[in-house]
Amino acid sequence: MNRYPVRYKLPGFVVFASLLRMATKYGFSDVREGLVEDIKGAYPTKWVDFESAGVLGEDVFGSPKPHPNAVLNLFVSQNVRFAIPFAYYRASLGGFSALMSDKPGTALPRHTLACAIHGMGVTRQMMPTTVRTISFTLNLTVCPNEACHLNVEVNPHERRIEAVGRLSDIMYSGRQGGVLSAPSLEGVTCASCTPPLKLWHATCRSTCWDILPTAFAVAKSWDEI
Ligand SMILES: [Zn+2]
Repeated sequence: MNRYPVRYKLPGFVVFASLLRMATKYGFSDVREGLVEDIKGAYPTKWVDFESAGVLGEDVFGSPKPHPNAVLNLFVSQNVRFAIPFAYYRASLGGFSALMSDKPGTALPRHTLACAIHGMGVTRQMMPTTVRTISFTLNLTVCPNEACHLNVEVNPHERRIEAVGRLSDIMYSGRQGGVLSAPSLEGVTCASCTPPLKLWHATCRSTCWDILPTAFAVAKSWDEI
């Protein structure tokens, strides 16, 4: 126990997991609460906290960074309930291959795997929904600014389809953060397109945040957690 962590200095994941399991098993509630307290910022339960968080998910554990499945397994088995929806989300960002990992400590039990795959499907489906919502809400038309990615030269009938395609590329292509993340629009869209786009995207992202507990079958809402 000479490596017992100083308070507010989170140990590596292996030590953290061992301490959490022991504290839970032997009923050291103050130790458990201390450990859990230190990860609250990285596993937020409120949209505003997610938006302002500097470190998220498994990144909080430092090097070597644990596989998100290992963190999810720990939280589910030790019933760290508040952190479970976001731990599911982080695990789902790696896609099917990461969820199906069978490396030691990363294999998900059948029920956990089923919830993770279901939630991944739900959250991914929110991407085209978000794009459609934004394109219709903003009533996108061709932007006259030639430097803007929403400057699309097509006939009126195809214009909206083209704009939706552009929006989708701008918001989701080549990014790892999933449906909750926001792209940098600097140099991508113009000064008049960017503010409404950002605003509506934030609205859609917070809607996605709200459905995380149901998407991963953890609870009916964040309030229940
Ligand atoms: Zn524009």
